Amino acid sequence: MDFSQIEGHGNIIEHLKGSVKNNRINHAYIFDGIRGIGKRSLAGAFAKALNCREGGTDACGKCISCKTFEEGNNPDIIYVTHEKKDITVSDVREQIIKNISLKPYSNRYKIFIIPDADKMNTLAQNAFLKTLEEPPEYGIFLLLCENSNKLLVTILSRCILFRLHPLPYSLVSEYLTKRGADEAKAQLCSVYSQGSIGIAMELMQSEEFGEIRQKAIDTALRLEDGDMTVLYSLVDELREQRSALDRILEIMYLIYRDALVLKQTGSAERIIQKDKINETASIAKKADAYRLIDRCDAIEDIRSRLNRNGNAQLLLETLFFRIKER
Ligand SMILES: [Zn+2]
Repeated sequence: MDFSQIEGHGNIIEHLKGSVKNNRINHAYIFDGIRGIGKRSLAGAFAKALNCREGGTDACGKCISCKTFEEGNNPDIIYVTHEKKDITVSDVREQIIKNISLKPYSNRYKIFIIPDADKMNTLAQNAFLKTLEEPPEYGIFLLLCENSNKLLVTILSRCILFRLHPLPYSLVSEYLTKRGADEAKAQLCSVYSQGSIGIAMELMQSEEFGEIRQKAIDTALRLEDGDMTVLYSLVDELREQRSALDRILEIMYLIYRDALVLKQTGSAERIIQKDKINETASIAKKADAYRLIDRCDAIEDIRSRLNRNGNAQLLLETLFFRIKER
């Protein structure tokens, strides 16, 4: 993967290319963003460009350094792995600290790419910090994480932080259709992708996604018919599957949003789930605008509390009561 092959993130790429061109390289960078958004691609392209023998701002793809990187055995670009849930102090010692004292084997820089860097536990972060405080001239660290706030302030302050923003849905959808996806499916998956190509690709391949979506739509329909028990069966069914629960709520949010748009504009043009127009119209008919807005607010609220690890059962009960009130 070179910079030229990466979708979006143009400002970050410009910044990185500028650093390579002007030879102003920091010892550590953080790429922060949701999964599948392009952290690994950006870090890989940067590492490749840094060690490319041609010395351009993007990797040449032909020199020995580029070639070995593509084959996955460039000795000076190292991916730090972890077997446990956390990255432990022994992972940091074995893979980073022991290794960094040895000069690069055959390249200008020795680059450590650390996926899930926010999973370094406190001991591991402290051990890593020591290296980060006094890295050798050739040492570079590229930290990939979904939540850089979990890193110690003392680590953050030594890194250049890039936040990867969601890609426009149109770009994600275009990416999928270019690779042969059916247009309607590509549009749908891009809407649910949160602006992440990786997530969009997962949805394209997922058999479960269709089922989950149907479940969300059925739930919304039954709620409008006054059947509140449906929320309880949802909790029972998804007790162990938080991500599925979150996705169901996300889809329900979109249904209410679509119903509101349909109600206010009287046209299906701006609705997202065009293939569910009948279900959307049925909900729009039963609920007034205030109720739909309240449903959206309630769901957003519950989702953000679920993401902060709230109790799913209690939170859905809250949703249940809020919906019942209206
Ligand atoms: Zn090269």
